[in-house]
Amino acid sequence: IIRVRPLTCTETRRGDRQVVHSLGDGAVHVSAARHDATFGFSAVFDAGASQEAVFEGSGMRQLVELAMDGFSCTVFAFGQTGSGKTYTLMGPLAQSDTEPASPALLGLMQRSFTCLLEQSRSRGSDRALSASYLEIYNEQVRDLLSPGPPCALPLRWSKTRGFYVENQLSVEFESLEAIVSLLLQGSQRRRTSAHALNRHSSRSHALLTIHIRGRAVSAPGEGWGVSACPSKQGTLCFVDLAGSERVKETGSSGELSVEANSINRSLLALGKSWGTLHGSPAGPHQSPVASFVAHPPAGHCISLLAKPRGKRTHIPFRDSKLTRLLARSLGGSGITLMVACISPSSRCLSETLSTLHYASRARRVTTRP
Ligand code: ADP
Ligand code: MG
Repeated sequence: IIRVRPLTCTETRRGDRQVVHSLGDGAVHVSAARHDATFGFSAVFDAGASQEAVFEGSGMRQLVELAMDGFSCTVFAFGQTGSGKTYTLMGPLAQSDTEPASPALLGLMQRSFTCLLEQSRSRGSDRALSASYLEIYNEQVRDLLSPGPPCALPLRWSKTRGFYVENQLSVEFESLEAIVSLLLQGSQRRRTSAHALNRHSSRSHALLTIHIRGRAVSAPGEGWGVSACPSKQGTLCFVDLAGSERVKETGSSGELSVEANSINRSLLALGKSWGTLHGSPAGPHQSPVASFVAHPPAGHCISLLAKPRGKRTHIPFRDSKLTRLLARSLGGSGITLMVACISPSSRCLSETLSTLHYASRARRVTTRP
């Protein structure tokens, strides 16, 4: 799905033109002097769309249900810095220290938590919910929930667990207040380092994962055919990706270019793993989630997407920490919702076009259990 944010005050003041328009029915139109293009997506939310509309129209509810059923579900927010990724996922809480965000502005995450807890209650108390919150900064994994100064945690692999982060904190929760406070704590820690290190937060990937474990054996096969093979533990992972802008344009040098290289490496690897997954056309009128569409957020690797099935090589999850951590979600029975965020401003035209190009090529990628 695509989300177009409104022009900011600064953009309006300096006279930027709005070059992105939603045409309805999943079509989005970009018009500027030498560019005129229309793209089609599962859904497009323009500047006027409320946070609630995005939640209801994105298929997020179904994704929560699938996670409850034992699938590995992932939501990615992708786009250049300032395009509205954090706003879409969390609302303006990430910006304001003082006032709590108004309920109408809560993002996909808080809304999903509410939905998750409702479903968990309605299905009986046989499920335990816990959350972990990590960030990947310069190819280092840090725990955003554990107290004390951030330290890098090792990423390990085991036959039974696949890739996992050693000593990662996973906190059980039973109420909305508890999980929202974990989210706030974590983003506060991320923000603190953002002050210390220039633009830190837009240079790091943040992953909040909800683990849904069955406390008791639940009824088998409820509503799921043989083609679906949910694991016993469902997960719902929210990924706030680092800005996708190209290194050259941000004028990175020194420390910044190290950051930019790590970001590019993981985005590239992510694109590559998607590239090696099954590519087949998704139906035009399926819900964003029901079509099981995985969208690659970046890359030269997009060309791989169109590869015929026979030519696919192994999935290079080992290429970056991000893809290693997401291996389970991205492969097999993983279900991914990609939220491509774009700015409507004429000044962001080239990034907007590249985001739209990648996202639309990627609509054709589906994963198979
Ligand atoms: P990113 O996380 O992609 O770098 P942010 O989510 O921080 O971008 O958004 C950049 C700015 O734009 C913030 O000030 C945010 O409040 C504002 N913004 C983003 N999306 C919207 C929206 N849909 N409606 C209103 N303001 C928005
Ligand atoms: Mg952000």
